[in-house]
Amino acid sequence: MELTENLTNSFQGIAVSPGIGIGRVMKIAGPGNAAPERLEIPESSINAEIERLHTAIAATAEQLSSLQSELRRKLNNLDADIFEFHIMLVRDRTLITAIENNIRSGKCNCEYALYEALEHFQKVFSTIPDEYLRERSLDLRDVGARLMENLTDVNAVMQGLDDHRVIVAASLTPTETARLDTSRVLGFVLENGSVTSHTAILARSLNLPAVVGIPGADLANLSGADKLIIDGFSGRVIVNPDSRTEEAYRLKARAADEFHARMQADNALPSETVDGFSIPLAVNLDSACCDLSSVKSTGASGIGLVRTEFMFLNPHHLPTEEEQFEVYKKLLIEAGDLPVVIRTMDIGGDKIAAGISTVAEENPFLGLRGIRLALRERVDLFKTQLRALLRAGVYGNLHIMLPMISSISEVWETRSIIDKLCSEMAEKGIEHVRELPLGVMIETPGAALIAGELSRICDFFSIGTNDLVQYTRAIDRGNEHVAYLYRPAHPSVLKLIKQTVEGAREGGIPVSVCGQMAADPALAVLLVGLGVHELSMVDSALPIVRRAIRSVSMYDAVQAAEKALACGRAAEVEEIVAGVLRERFPELAEI
Ligand code: PEP
Ligand code: MG
Repeated sequence: MELTENLTNSFQGIAVSPGIGIGRVMKIAGPGNAAPERLEIPESSINAEIERLHTAIAATAEQLSSLQSELRRKLNNLDADIFEFHIMLVRDRTLITAIENNIRSGKCNCEYALYEALEHFQKVFSTIPDEYLRERSLDLRDVGARLMENLTDVNAVMQGLDDHRVIVAASLTPTETARLDTSRVLGFVLENGSVTSHTAILARSLNLPAVVGIPGADLANLSGADKLIIDGFSGRVIVNPDSRTEEAYRLKARAADEFHARMQADNALPSETVDGFSIPLAVNLDSACCDLSSVKSTGASGIGLVRTEFMFLNPHHLPTEEEQFEVYKKLLIEAGDLPVVIRTMDIGGDKIAAGISTVAEENPFLGLRGIRLALRERVDLFKTQLRALLRAGVYGNLHIMLPMISSISEVWETRSIIDKLCSEMAEKGIEHVRELPLGVMIETPGAALIAGELSRICDFFSIGTNDLVQYTRAIDRGNEHVAYLYRPAHPSVLKLIKQTVEGAREGGIPVSVCGQMAADPALAVLLVGLGVHELSMVDSALPIVRRAIRSVSMYDAVQAAEKALACGRAAEVEEIVAGVLRERFPELAEI
């Protein structure tokens, strides 16, 4: 059946996680998000709704006080007193009365009543002539967002629904996505984000379709009564489809499932080119606590990246050494002999956790992120994590990897911390590993340019193309407005990858790629041609990438890479690699 659809009732966004999702809308309110859904409530529920408001106010005030005490510990009292003002705001009678009145007179849910009150006060603030007072509207927005977060328990709301839903929001932070009960989610439609934003990465690892970059005004018109089709292959979102369109998309979903099943039939076959070059394929994990059975069934050569930072994003609890040790140990035991590359916490950028950092940054992606935060601000957390890792290393084939490396000294500093921790543990008779492979991520152009030097002081490289593209081309990876420029196949990126491979050769160490580029079958072939030894990706992509590699010769790959390096534009490179796959793997082009 043809994919016919009523185009006036559809939006085109950016496809960031493949698959088809069909179901009704669940809107999420929150910081930076559109108006929450207005729900009518009966007269008899008004008091309960007001009680809910007061519970959320108490929780918000408590969070703010503990944040204030935490800051007092680290800063002078003056800076921490900012929170005093926030606590006063959340308890402000005028604000509370306005929300209560909105609930009573509008007979609506608390979230909507809060939203209305915030809108009203923002307008009032904006007309104040005094600049200092006018800027206090930012504090109100901050407090309002916190209150909204405490009010909205999306998981509880979804539990009460009789069907699964498509999440619609302006934006979702990685923390919010990680906290969602995704067993009831059919996919995501967001205003903000891009293919390598961390929410998109999570959607892919959850095997849920996602489309981003839909204008807020279009999302604002959607409600829980609307049914959506999200096409995570093309980026199309269709509102209230007719039965013919819905049937066509159900067929498309079935064809995609059948294609995947055909690819999975090859899971036991080696990942090698037709002329016999082996390219091990590993899997990325977004959490260290997970069941490895589906990973093992893909025939993966190991775990090429474990993103541990999500463990640290719960504002109410930071994982202790013992808790981390148990998680890493379980993972290593389950993986058996397979190598497991655990990356130390890559906090910062868009993965910001309340209570971890007290530094307010204008440009978090260029600030205290990854190894910088670990060595400069939270060396306490870094040491706790390293101790847990070194102890767990006894139980399997552990490799430790450092994120956001941009200088040699960061590796030396880490090595010296590890040495000290090992000596302390040896003195206390605590079992641990002393020798283990220590690798670095190549995610900044600076690191790629000194790859030769870095290769002499570490044991492996893993190229994080998600960030390498961002930093090379100066494109915020989470910003949908510049997503049109986000092209991993751009020759500037390829040249840095080539340089990294050559640098690794100087130190005789292997190079892997664990960014999203490795999960794209055409780009994976290009990476092989550039001399990358191993690829690591979300498990669902592995069977398709294996088939792509099994379809080409090393000669094809190297030729494509050589041609690509001589190009000036990403589009030319994309055409070269698409041409190789059209010829060698036509089934992919059909799907
Ligand atoms: C990358 O940058 O490519 C990478 C794998 O790390 P992350 O996506 O977690 O930043
Ligand atoms: Mg990265």
